[in-house]
Amino acid sequence: MLINLFNFNKFIQLYAIEGKEIFIVGGILILSAIPLFLGSNSDKKKAIFKGLRCINCGKNKNFKFTCECGKNSKLFYLTVFFITFASLIFSLIKLNNLTDFLIASLMIILLSSVSVSDIIERTVPDILVLIFGIVFLLMRILLTPERLLDSFLGMTGSFLFFLTIAYVGEKIYKREVLGGGDIKLYGVIGLILGLNLTFISIFIASLSGYIYSFFIKERDYIAFVPFISFGVLISYFYGKTILEGYLNLI
Ligand SMILES: [Zn+2]
Repeated sequence: MLINLFNFNKFIQLYAIEGKEIFIVGGILILSAIPLFLGSNSDKKKAIFKGLRCINCGKNKNFKFTCECGKNSKLFYLTVFFITFASLIFSLIKLNNLTDFLIASLMIILLSSVSVSDIIERTVPDILVLIFGIVFLLMRILLTPERLLDSFLGMTGSFLFFLTIAYVGEKIYKREVLGGGDIKLYGVIGLILGLNLTFISIFIASLSGYIYSFFIKERDYIAFVPFISFGVLISYFYGKTILEGYLNLI
């Protein structure tokens, strides 16, 4: 499967893009920049076209990376940009139909945006989750109706799962253990992944988040959405392989 990944001839035939590579890559470069603006301006929608927020003090900097507070946000935004770009190119090569690629690219843009927002503003913006959720639901109904039932099961399954964790966690720790934004985001993820892949993504997200927090000394806020995003991407592309491997083991 990994070897197929770089089968460019098949990929070029499939999308009939010979001679149009420059436009495809250009389009993906533009798509990769969208999450930076959506994620760093989610609370002030009118500021989306005014520039990127400083990762240290949160001020908008009108496309200048160095802030008055002395912090330079260039490395952060470039990293997010390249991860988004690489994920989009990966899904273009890996997926062999346009519908799956459309859903995957919207999913990557949503995950990148909410990761930026979680890191900068420590929040998952409701408005982004709601808009993308409606779009995903419409795409499932119109483009892949055969997967609609699994989508609904994924959405309600993850919703109930996280509501239970939030409720039990609050009883035990006497404080909020899970943000409402995370729960809503996972509702939308369930809609995209379906039931089985959603739970695989939760497992990968928890495991990678746990490993990270084990190595990081600071006990301050750890943005969990980047780990959720990592889990979702792995599960979206390799979840079926992981599930089959696991079922063969038992
Ligand atoms: Zn600043």
